[in-house]
Amino acid sequence: MTSESEAELSGASQRRRPKADVLAIGNRKLNPSTLMMGHGYDPALSEGSLKPPIFLTSTFVFENAAAGKRFFEGVTGKRPGGAEGLVYSRFNGPNQEIVEDRLGIWEDAEDALIFSSGMSAIATVLLTFVKPGDVIVHSAPLYAATETLIGRILGKFGVTWLDFPAGATKEEIDAVIEKAKTMGRVALIYLESPANPTNVLVDIEAVAEVRNARFEEGDSRPPIVIDNTFLGPLWLKPLGHGADIVVYSLTKYAGGHSDLVAGGALGSKAHINMIRMMRNTIGTILDPNSAWMLMRSLETLELRMSRAGENAARVCAWLKEQPKVERVVYLGFPETERQADIYRRHCSGAGSTFSLYLKGGEKEAFAFLDALRIAKLAVSLGGTETLASHPAAMTHLSVPDERKKALRIGDNMVRISIGVEHADDLIADFEQALAAV
Ligand SMILES: *Cc1c(COP(=O)(O)O)cnc(C)c1O
Repeated sequence: MTSESEAELSGASQRRRPKADVLAIGNRKLNPSTLMMGHGYDPALSEGSLKPPIFLTSTFVFENAAAGKRFFEGVTGKRPGGAEGLVYSRFNGPNQEIVEDRLGIWEDAEDALIFSSGMSAIATVLLTFVKPGDVIVHSAPLYAATETLIGRILGKFGVTWLDFPAGATKEEIDAVIEKAKTMGRVALIYLESPANPTNVLVDIEAVAEVRNARFEEGDSRPPIVIDNTFLGPLWLKPLGHGADIVVYSLTKYAGGHSDLVAGGALGSKAHINMIRMMRNTIGTILDPNSAWMLMRSLETLELRMSRAGENAARVCAWLKEQPKVERVVYLGFPETERQADIYRRHCSGAGSTFSLYLKGGEKEAFAFLDALRIAKLAVSLGGTETLASHPAAMTHLSVPDERKKALRIGDNMVRISIGVEHADDLIADFEQALAAV
């Protein structure tokens, strides 16, 4: 048999494409929320089972030697068009491919991949594009583990970085990219919007304009990668604003029930094939059980995110008027004209994760958190249940005081992710918790 290493160049298998997969009716292109129930799966290939079985297997049997050779020719790129069949479960499997097909639909992406966690998705994408001596330009702040990965881990391999604040203007972004070009080859531009926990949006369109002006089209033009965990895939679709690759922690809104850990990457076939080669080599694919759960989650994604978004709008409008509340930092209440402009151009909704600043300090914030009865005291976000946490004492405990101050991570700050409960009940919970402060 051909050596396994050749399979590391694998494209997606063109297996089991349902003959009757309906993507449009007449001229009407079907909506993602409709396609989540059937796209990418043919019941006839699984004994008529309405839902796909979970394929617990490490490897796939070839019908005959010639088929195996043909698959490997596709896998290794000897013949264009990618693999025609499944080969080995570190490369892909039916459950993973169904989710990948469906995930891509939400952002009109040509292709998508799923990973064992958000961080393994981010790590696999970074390893695909960087080499020693390269520079990564990124918006700041980033998710803490992403900052560690770029600064400390890739730093060990001679990769450097330069950042700009999330809300930077086109001129400020341009100055940072100009300087980065003097430090080494700019391998990629990495964004996270909105920044956590400041909720400041990045102007993706401005980043793309600067990148396109500073780098000729071609292989040396750095891709723009964006972490869309907080608003995607419903409220922000960055590929339409100039980003090339979208990465996700699917643990959050996409998984949506706080019961699995997963990641994703979306983009053009060319970019995704490069990332797939790295995933095939290092084995960061999601397992079939979690892929099946994620598939189920995608069926209700629009329902859950819409309800959470409506709840958050009501809760924030109420919180803003309370005398014990100093400020509510929520995308629906932009604090500057520039942020309002980015919001109007990029977003179709304000999400359901925001920051609440109480009058007082840690004592008041802790009293509020300890009094909550519906909302649970936990980090993470995007689940069906409302969660509340204290960034200064929890997720951002190790951030130096100076940086905390710059990011407005005060002792009086509470981070809230609103779920799909009844909004009136949530308001009642926040009302009694404020009374306990
Ligand atoms: C949670 C999160 C991650 C990491 O995802 P995991 O699934 O926990 O590995 C990355 N980026 C953002 C913005 C996140 O919220």
